[in-house]
Amino acid sequence: MFRIPETHPRYKSLLKREKIVAGIEAGITSRQGLIAHGRGEAFDYLIGERTLPAALRATEAAAALLLTAQKPVISVNGNVAALVTERVIELSELIGAPLEVNIFYWTEARVMKIKEHLEQHGATNVLGDKADARIPGIEHARARVDKDGIYTADVVLAPLEDGDRCEALIAMGKKVVTIDLNPVSRTSKYATVSIVDDIERALENLILMIKEKKKGEVKLLEDYDNKENLQAVINEIMERLKNEALR
Ligand code: ATP
Repeated sequence: MFRIPETHPRYKSLLKREKIVAGIEAGITSRQGLIAHGRGEAFDYLIGERTLPAALRATEAAAALLLTAQKPVISVNGNVAALVTERVIELSELIGAPLEVNIFYWTEARVMKIKEHLEQHGATNVLGDKADARIPGIEHARARVDKDGIYTADVVLAPLEDGDRCEALIAMGKKVVTIDLNPVSRTSKYATVSIVDDIERALENLILMIKEKKKGEVKLLEDYDNKENLQAVINEIMERLKNEALR
């Protein structure tokens, strides 16, 4: 990876870019993943590259949902595998949920590369290579999932997901937690719980909250409403942007 000096004001952001580029070079991230990352970066700039209070509340709702799930599964695409390899593996161990390689631009070779990448970093339960079931309503390649994984899961953590698949998973009766910096994406709007935050920050918070919640009795956040939460995120962004140029 290109070496970025830690003193650079955009160090964290540049490091993420390098991780995505390294992911492409390793054959785990698609070239289209670069564009998705750029869209995320733009929203993160507007957000102020920090976790908004409303995002923290969504993260808490997600932690409770994942801990009370019967059969949670964590969906991993090429950007997720490149950006948060260790964190996603830690989360998988913490909640006893398999990781399932689930990519938009599906090729068997890339699925296997991502699976190997996760296993090389210590993951012990990685699905996605069977692809023996289909999400109804999605066209062929993008619909592939594992019967033992996402297909029969009750709660799916699907970060950086696309709107169609999120909608189709909800239509199957599943609860979907997403992590997406765009509060107005179709994914954010369809999901049961949308964490509008950068995936690194969101997973860090999610892991901390899950560790904390595991010490006691876990209760769902009954009064959590995803649409209201998304509106709160948008209001927080607008508040931040008021008079921004004059600061
Ligand atoms: P939708 O279909 O949900 O309306 P989309 O087609 O824009 O949205 P994709 O391009 O499939 O969605 O997915 C990329 C999404 O992931 C974008 O909404 C982008 O904001 C978000 N994203 C990209 N990088 C990150 C990141 N590091 N952390 C969180 N979200 C990210």
